[in-house]
Amino acid sequence: MTQQESSPETLWLSGNEALALGAHEATVKVASGYPGTPSTEILENLTGYDNVYTEWAPNEKVGLEVAIGASFAGVRALATMKHVGLNVAADPLFTASYTGVRGGLVIIVADDPTMHSSQNEQDSRNYAWAAKLPMLEPSDPAEAKEYLKQAYEISEEFDTPVLLRSCTRVAHVKGIVASGPITASKVTPGIEKMPAKFVMLPANARQRRLAVAERMEKLALMADHSSLNTIEWGDKKRGIIAAGTSYLYAKEAFPEASFLKLGLVNPLPQSLIKEFASKVKELIVIEDLDPFLETQIKAMGIKCHGKDMIPAIGELTTAVVRTGVSGKAGKTDFAPVELVPRPPNMCAGCPHRGLFYNLNRLKVFVSGDIGCYTLGFLPPLSAMDSCVCMGASIGVAHGMAKALGDEGKGKIVAVLGDSTFIHSGITGLINTVYNKDYSTVIILDNRITAMTGHQPNPASGSTLMGEPANSINFEELCRAIGVKHVRTVNPQNIKETHDALKEEIERDEPSVVITRFPCVLIPEEKKRKKIPLHSNTDNCTGCTACLRIGCPAIHWEPLTAEEVAARGGKKAQKGISRIDEVMCVGCGLCKQLCKFDAIVDGEEKS
Ligand code: SF4
Ligand code: SF4
Repeated sequence: MTQQESSPETLWLSGNEALALGAHEATVKVASGYPGTPSTEILENLTGYDNVYTEWAPNEKVGLEVAIGASFAGVRALATMKHVGLNVAADPLFTASYTGVRGGLVIIVADDPTMHSSQNEQDSRNYAWAAKLPMLEPSDPAEAKEYLKQAYEISEEFDTPVLLRSCTRVAHVKGIVASGPITASKVTPGIEKMPAKFVMLPANARQRRLAVAERMEKLALMADHSSLNTIEWGDKKRGIIAAGTSYLYAKEAFPEASFLKLGLVNPLPQSLIKEFASKVKELIVIEDLDPFLETQIKAMGIKCHGKDMIPAIGELTTAVVRTGVSGKAGKTDFAPVELVPRPPNMCAGCPHRGLFYNLNRLKVFVSGDIGCYTLGFLPPLSAMDSCVCMGASIGVAHGMAKALGDEGKGKIVAVLGDSTFIHSGITGLINTVYNKDYSTVIILDNRITAMTGHQPNPASGSTLMGEPANSINFEELCRAIGVKHVRTVNPQNIKETHDALKEEIERDEPSVVITRFPCVLIPEEKKRKKIPLHSNTDNCTGCTACLRIGCPAIHWEPLTAEEVAARGGKKAQKGISRIDEVMCVGCGLCKQLCKFDAIVDGEEKS
């Protein structure tokens, strides 16, 4: 390790900002990833540092492969993703465990207990175990930065990729972080041919399998003496083993107890655990999600409590830990905050609204995908019938078409966004064409990866580092795959979209409809002058047609029978709808639905 001295600075950083600082201080040269909450801001913050190349990859597998290549070339490399992204990257991950590294290689994976913004709950520690890789687990932003730097040292010393497990709380909470020295790698960048190490054909892989076993034994010995794993002696009646945020919750709930805090959660420090267990009367393992530590500790022949006290579902809190262990919730440290309810909804002017309005009317089965447009599931649009994982919509629609045969014709569509299509939808479309079904694939091209916070993607025309880039031509790409019927529509035009969908859905062969209109929140759109529409409420009959698109800028005002009579309305009228001109961006969708001239252009307002 080579260190450059610099005066420390005290900073107030989120975990993701701290991880970016850690990558900078560890002299990471290449970083690649796919945006996924809660990991997204790591790379976005890393772009603010010099001497590092950062990029958004089409998916997590490619991101990790890029980082592996950089490591082979002798520089320190980083791949970032959320837990479900690690599933996509699992293929290169398991083999990178065999090849090992040249420059240090770290994979940051951010778990999301309780599924604040995910389709499932996963415990990424199981990947460290299965892929035979060391994993570090910080509990706060300061540790996140320090652990990342240590991860690079471990990576180069033990010739291994290292996993660093973050989670929603570590990623997004803010804490005091001290800047530190730059710790450069001793590896010299350049091309070094090492086929026995890097070419994983069976003869070489069998040798590397032995190297992996040897490495994990050495790491387990290191774990017993590492400063990453520490004992804090307190009352020896109760000993707690915990890592990450679980340690913080447990410490707050039982400050008097003895603790074995694990920073390295794979492999485990067996001697240290045995020593700790032998000196406490009751041993409790406190961990979120799976009984990862508990199972291994029990397999060591040590009696302990774990999931008999601590839930295996959802995020832990101090109160959950206290109640689980002692049966009493105890005092409430913070009074619950009353937040204004904010139900999920597409933004006012969202270009997906026109499409889902039409799909609802067409009564087709909509095989959905992951993105803002998953909200098309909610009423009043109610036009999404399944959603499995990134890029799955096309495969699911294909499976349904094959299962139903002629009976499903004209009844099945797949929807997915531009970024999701590039991520892993494209292979599904190739399969649809190759294996001949009739489903219609709708690519909702809003020019950006919107749901994770508007990151550019290979169709957006710019890179993460802000440089202009090639923008994929989806029409040409789909035709090149073999789709004969490709058409592009403006989803803000309800009739045009309806007619195109009807025609394509009824086809006997695969077709693609691209609904192209930019997300209202991308910088170019935000700059565009918006003229809100205006409610001419005198004309409103209360028919509610405009409410069926679920725009948050339109609200309903109930009227009494007397008020309706005074307006000269029909007896059945229950109220009027009104546009909130502060929220309205003038997309014009609602105006197309009103048959009574009750919604008029902004200029007409006087
Ligand atoms: S024009 Fe209508 S649909 Fe579009 S944002 Fe304004 S109120 Fe909503
Ligand atoms: S504004 Fe038009 S569409 Fe909306 S409720 Fe009134 S009359 Fe019906």
